Amino acid sequence: MQEIRCGNCHKKLGVGTFQQLNMKCPRCKTMNNLRATSTPPACPSASNLKDAQECQITKSTDHR
Ligand SMILES: [Zn+2]
Repeated sequence: MQEIRCGNCHKKLGVGTFQQLNMKCPRCKTMNNLRATSTPPACPSASNLKDAQECQITKSTDHR
């Protein structure tokens, strides 16, 4: 779980888990586009978790 806060006024909007979230702050009306930083970027071609994991393995072994 992580805190979701407004990027402008830092009002706490909620807690939870998310990968991407668009939330409008009720106080300052700022549109927050949030992305979980702890989650590695998913492979664009991966359609499920297994593909995404294999994609990341491929990426890491291909690192130069
Ligand atoms: Zn705000």
